[in-house]
Amino acid sequence: MALKVFDLVCEHGHIFEGWFRSHEDYDSQQQAGWLSCPVCDSVDVTKKLSAPRLNLRHGLGSSQSESNTQSAASEPLPSLETMQAEFLQQIKQAIKNTDDVGAEFAQEARKIHEGSAPERAIRGSATYEEYESLRDEGIQVLAIPDYLDEDKMN
Ligand SMILES: [Zn+2]
Repeated sequence: MALKVFDLVCEHGHIFEGWFRSHEDYDSQQQAGWLSCPVCDSVDVTKKLSAPRLNLRHGLGSSQSESNTQSAASEPLPSLETMQAEFLQQIKQAIKNTDDVGAEFAQEARKIHEGSAPERAIRGSATYEEYESLRDEGIQVLAIPDYLDEDKMN
């Protein structure tokens, strides 16, 4: 399935990316108020035209053949704000695809690492000591601020 990537901007000027099946899909999501800014959660979001974008997923190739009027060096880099917004959006997306194990996080992460629990992405809470010892054991964990877990905000 081909997805369209649009640069969106909220009423406060935060710029972020949205993925849609079509322009109609964007319109209906926008009208339904499903689009919200990953930085300030405003639903007053509009499409930003031709914003600079750093597409890390597809590498840095292919720009030579497309830019015959401009040299690649004159293309502006995305602002730090844009990159932060994209990063936050990806983290939020990743969080949605994890299993919330709550306070059992450290035990569950260890079980998965040892192979005694099913392999999956989990999230939950851990103390700083638990976090440190998981990392010492070679278990991949990432500390994220609580406010990024949308389930906890309800
Ligand atoms: Zn915003």
